[in-house]
Amino acid sequence: MSFIFKTIALKISSRPDISLILSLFFIVILIFIINKRKQRIHNNRTFRSEQSQRLEYSSVSPSTNKEIRWGENLQNVDKVVFQEISEQEIKISANNININGLRDAFTGVDINLSSVLYQCLYCKVFYQKSSYDILVEANNKECVSCGKKNIVQVTDIRSIVKKAQHEPKIATLDNYKEYVGRSVTFEGYVFDVKTSKDGQNYAIMFEDKRWCEGFKMVIFRGKIDACGGKNFINNLRGKRVVVRGLLRHHPFFGYEIIVSQQSMILDVK
Ligand SMILES: [Zn+2]
Repeated sequence: MSFIFKTIALKISSRPDISLILSLFFIVILIFIINKRKQRIHNNRTFRSEQSQRLEYSSVSPSTNKEIRWGENLQNVDKVVFQEISEQEIKISANNININGLRDAFTGVDINLSSVLYQCLYCKVFYQKSSYDILVEANNKECVSCGKKNIVQVTDIRSIVKKAQHEPKIATLDNYKEYVGRSVTFEGYVFDVKTSKDGQNYAIMFEDKRWCEGFKMVIFRGKIDACGGKNFINNLRGKRVVVRGLLRHHPFFGYEIIVSQQSMILDVK
C-alpha cells in the first residue's frame, strides 16, 4: 500500500503542473470548509438572539414586571402572556384612540385612566366614576350632554371606537330653565351664601331670594372640602362667579347647579 502512495507521490512530484493543480484544489476545499463553519456559527448566534428577544418581549409580567431569563422553563412564559393588561398597556391603547385630552362631561376635568371610566353609548362622552355616581344620585342616571340614559362602564378601553367631548351650554338667568339635566356654565353675582340647618350643605345664591325660590349653585355634604372648604365658599359672597355644573330642578329646593369639586368653580371675580 505504502508502495502505491510512494509511486503516486513520486509521479506527482515529477509533474509540477499536476502538483500545482492539486495544491489549488486543496486550498479551495479548505476555504469552502472554513466558510461553511463560519456560516453555521453565525446562524446559531442569530437564532439564539431572536429567541432571546422573543422571550424578553413576551416574558415581562404586567403585574410583577418579573423577567424570565433565557434558559428558564418555557412553561412560565405561557403563564405570563395571558395575564391581565397592565396600566401602561392601557395608556398605550388610549394613546392609539386619543383618549388623552378628553374631559369628564360633568366636571370638565381631564379623563384619568387610573379611575373607573364610563361612557354614554348615545353621544359618546366620558365620565369618571365619581361623576357617574352624581348622575345616579341627582340626574336619574341621565347623560348631562345628551339627556339619554345610556351610560355604561368601560370594561376594556380598547373596545372604544368613538369618542366625544362635551362642551357645556352657557346658561343665563333668562334661559337656565331650558337646560335642566344638562351640564352648563353660568356666570352670576353671589347675593348670599346660605347653609342648611345642619351646616353641611351650601347654597350660593345667584338671586336675592329664599333658598327654595332663587337660582343657586349648591355644594352638598361631603363635597365641601373638595370645593375649597367653608372659608372659600363663604368668601364667594359679593363676588361674581363663573361655574360649571349640572343644572337640575329639585321638586322642593328648585333650580340649582350642582358642583362637586373646586375646579368646577371656573373663576371668581
Ligand atoms: Zn350622552
